[in-house]
Amino acid sequence: MTAQYQQQGSVAVITLDNPPVNGMNLETRLALVNGVQRALDDTATRAIVITGAGKAFSGGADIKEFNTPQALAEPNLHTVIDLIENAGKPVIAAMHHVCMGGGLELSLGCHYRVASQGCQVALPEVKLGLLPGAGGTQRLPRVVGLEIALKMITTGTPELAGNLSQTALFDEVVDGDAVAAAVAFAGKIADVRPLPKVRNRQVNPAQAEQILAAARTQAQRGFLNAPRQCVETIAAAVRLPFDEGLQFERNSFYELVLSTESKALRHAFFAERAASKIPDVPASTPVRSITTAAVIGAGTMGAGIAMNFANAGIPVMISETSAAALEKGLATIRKNYQNTRDKGKLSPELCEKRIGLISGTLDYNGIAAADMVVEAVFEDLNVKQSVFEKLDAIMKPGAILASNTSTLDLDRIAAFTKRPGDVIGTHFFSPANVMKLLEIVRGQATSKDVLATVMALSKSMKKIGVVSGVCDGFIGNRMLEQYLKQAGFLLEEGCLPAQVDSAVEKLGFAMGPFRMSDLAGNDISYAIRKRRYAERPDVINSKVADKLCEIGRFGQKTSAGWYDYQKGERTALPSEQVNQMIKDHSAQVGIERRTIADQEITERLIFALVNEGAAILSEGIAQRASDIDMVYLSGYGFPLHLGGPMFYADTLGLPYVVQAIKRYATGHYGSVWTVTPLLSELADKGLTFNK
Ligand code: NAD
Repeated sequence: MTAQYQQQGSVAVITLDNPPVNGMNLETRLALVNGVQRALDDTATRAIVITGAGKAFSGGADIKEFNTPQALAEPNLHTVIDLIENAGKPVIAAMHHVCMGGGLELSLGCHYRVASQGCQVALPEVKLGLLPGAGGTQRLPRVVGLEIALKMITTGTPELAGNLSQTALFDEVVDGDAVAAAVAFAGKIADVRPLPKVRNRQVNPAQAEQILAAARTQAQRGFLNAPRQCVETIAAAVRLPFDEGLQFERNSFYELVLSTESKALRHAFFAERAASKIPDVPASTPVRSITTAAVIGAGTMGAGIAMNFANAGIPVMISETSAAALEKGLATIRKNYQNTRDKGKLSPELCEKRIGLISGTLDYNGIAAADMVVEAVFEDLNVKQSVFEKLDAIMKPGAILASNTSTLDLDRIAAFTKRPGDVIGTHFFSPANVMKLLEIVRGQATSKDVLATVMALSKSMKKIGVVSGVCDGFIGNRMLEQYLKQAGFLLEEGCLPAQVDSAVEKLGFAMGPFRMSDLAGNDISYAIRKRRYAERPDVINSKVADKLCEIGRFGQKTSAGWYDYQKGERTALPSEQVNQMIKDHSAQVGIERRTIADQEITERLIFALVNEGAAILSEGIAQRASDIDMVYLSGYGFPLHLGGPMFYADTLGLPYVVQAIKRYATGHYGSVWTVTPLLSELADKGLTFNK
């Protein structure tokens, strides 16, 4: 049973019951239709209340039904809403906790709506590259007005019923139980005829054109098409009679469902959920309790990592080698929290509470009782060795020992201890308190319960945890190395930094490779390259970036990198000195510079990611292609509407990617390209990375 039927006097109460959020799947729709029909047939019933069991009216479409024939099977949501809207007895929606997507559309088909103050209402379809397809774009503006409807539908952001109590969306907004209030309300209106229908209302046309023009300008700013379509579909509610508007909505919806953009956004949605699943670590795996934590090192990363523990409500102690370093780290933390508070994003109480959860020590023994410790000291194996030996000696049995290393071999780090099963990598991204991605590095010996615990912890820190095996650079940075390598070659062959950056930024990347390197600090990748030169002298790399560092241009921190920066400013200004240095370098290495098209730039950069991603996948470093996409979407500013590098390659067609790589392999630095066997195998078989 996915809906319960109950009689309260002359009112029939139908309760959707499809945990966890009463998703409107086929079974639930059928149960609802049966319930409504039964109430209509029952002469003793004068009114019908529809509500949801548990902590939701309805969260909308059932995601398990996505892309299945059941999603459209009759009775589909249109049919259900038609039945309710045309019912001869009043139907009242009793909305509480969560009423979203198809759930809100269903309530808009009811004759009356009663909600609890705290009920969250939203039409979030735009977040999946879609628009509300069951009348939401036509009915919502008729009850809340054009401006609120545009905001809700183009952003998908939830709004509290209490904040909309003055609009015609609700007939009553109550403090207490919405169902009891709806039943009482039913008693008052049971005999009122004609029954009110949202479809018969008009959208207030006052200043409609100005409001729509502003919304169009806003929607044009982003890379996504769905918000633009949402605006046009809402505009149809102003311009067209209801039924024509509904048809317009339906056509736009089907257009979006088939778009690559929506497929990419839905891929990202499912990829995020898939990332939390580890095939050999079932959900039932016991987790260790993390009630106190410690961080070693109060530098760039340590300070941000400590904030993540505090944000999750876990007291955390930071250990440092000097009072000055400790105080600097703690001051950064206070400043970060205060900035967030000043922007109104954190209440003063919560700000103080979080600052209060973070303390410092210069004595290692002070952290011995912590349930988990994250090491964030210098990226040097000898330093890590001394830290892990010390941790092994002092930490209580069962404590989780994590390293934030970005490139070092976690298995070697684990071997510095006598408890390698307790050692794991937690690779946070900078700024650690902001970036969503957390690469969770699973060593050879990492215990399953340690892995399960850190996966759960990443959720309480509101991070997207993606598991990576051990390799140099893990998933993200190992791929990035190939991407940056191509970026360097492009400079030598004829590009300047601004051209390369703008080519990928036009595709929707948050930042091109050179602006990104200036932000991260060119000295960091320089140090890694120098280590590589020593370890693998045969590796071919552009030397332009090394030259940049040799003249002290480390990026924003020195107000000079690939670009010039005004002191304290972040705007990248093309640098004559750097551009000349690049041209001179090409001459020195004997390359005749040529004009390079944007398509070549973007393909060489992205296909370098894809080719390395394929290697990572075939080596089992990543569990699935969608995990790689998640790493790039949440940690590297890859455009969401392209779905991540592996998904993007799938949409282009893998044979195309293989052909292009083979073509680039004939270029000046072509010898660095070898098509990864998995990529060519999938291309040959007409398959894709993502199933
Ligand atoms: P950092 O130089 O800013 O900070 C390191 C801190 O560790 C310093 O404050 C230092 O005093 C302290 N420290 C050194 N030895 C110590 C010891 N024995 N005990 C206690 N404290 C000690 O470095 P960072 O950028 O924060 O990097 C830390 C780690 O995080 C490195 O492994 C790095 O590879 C990794 N990482 C850095 C970034 C980044 O963008 N900076 C991103 C991901 C991972």
